[in-house]
Amino acid sequence: MRRVYMDHNATTPVHPEVLEAMMPFFKEEFGNASSIHWAGREVKKYVDEAREKVASLLNASPAEIVFTGCGTESDNMAIKGVAFALKDKGRHIITTRVEHHAVLHTGQFLEKMGYEVTYLAVDRDGLIDLEDLRRSIKPQTILITIMFANNETGTIFPVQEIGEIAREKGIVFHSDAIQAVGKLPIDLRQLPVDILSLSGHKIYAPKGIGAQYIRTGTKLMPLIHGGGQERNRRAGTENIPYIVGLGKASEIAQRDFPKRYDHFLALRDRLQQGILSQIPHVQLNGHPTKRLPNTLNLSFTYIEGESLLLNLDLEGIAVSSGSACTAGSSEASHVLLAMGVPPEIAQSAIRFSLGWANTKEDVDYVVEVLPRIVKRLRDISPLYQRHVTRAK
Ligand code: PLP
Repeated sequence: MRRVYMDHNATTPVHPEVLEAMMPFFKEEFGNASSIHWAGREVKKYVDEAREKVASLLNASPAEIVFTGCGTESDNMAIKGVAFALKDKGRHIITTRVEHHAVLHTGQFLEKMGYEVTYLAVDRDGLIDLEDLRRSIKPQTILITIMFANNETGTIFPVQEIGEIAREKGIVFHSDAIQAVGKLPIDLRQLPVDILSLSGHKIYAPKGIGAQYIRTGTKLMPLIHGGGQERNRRAGTENIPYIVGLGKASEIAQRDFPKRYDHFLALRDRLQQGILSQIPHVQLNGHPTKRLPNTLNLSFTYIEGESLLLNLDLEGIAVSSGSACTAGSSEASHVLLAMGVPPEIAQSAIRFSLGWANTKEDVDYVVEVLPRIVKRLRDISPLYQRHVTRAK
């Protein structure tokens, strides 16, 4: 059976060049980067090189990059790190209702510790109102944490404008850019972002490696205490093979960016057109244009997204209903609900997220298989039958 993977916002395969770059560090290059003998000195060089590559992808300085264990850790490091470092200045944090759980649950944890968190509402496209953001700022606000682009819908936030507001008010601005890195141009010499999180497994590096950009001068309390690694910002012996992998993936993301961007857009538009022209009662979730080039979130009304996902899986097609972290639960996506999508329409959502290895043939296969499955599921859907009877 043909296999088509269209769930790259959940995770990406490791790029062959990344795997190749990592291999020596599982074998002969096994040293500890903190050792001062030859074995340590040799690997330290590669850690420095990887840091330069991540910095270059973001147009930042290598000293501003810290390696972490994953994107979730980066988000925790940013939010708790600022909250703990600035607790005497204030204890109010602003975020949105559509963040990943790595941010939302960290916010809820801090609420239990006595912090106040404002969760900004979003509109039908998934965007915040900048005036609402301004109004939410208090003298005790220490942090604004708003994602660069949403993992479920792909909606892109006005990071420049949010950063300008944060700067004007002297508030630290963190952005979870885990879905944006490699898919959108990010220039941290231009963008007023103080802390930015990224994750390896969304950009063709392995799972279990992330990084954090911390603008020089930004105060953060470290989360993990121990040795003095990462300039005392994140203790623990460096995971050298994975750091090298993230460096290589960043280099490739920068090298192939224009090619990938055009490829994503062309395939995504072909997929969107193909589906919308063949299947009635389909609704786009997310901003029509301000959206990640690889992401397409559609509600197939009158059927359950979960059933659609399972039926597509039987045809070899891997997609997601809602975010990967909530897959398996029958609750509608918190992101779509926050956007005002009615629960039954939110539950009929499917996210297609493309990767660089997807082809036109993959898209055409999905467009060929999907109408048949949707028709079959609608034929047995009481909701749809009611709609048909009413329409007669
Ligand atoms: N933030 C966003 C927007 C994400 O999409 C993800 C992963 O799905 C994460 C955070 C968590 O990253 P990781 O899986 O590396 O912990």
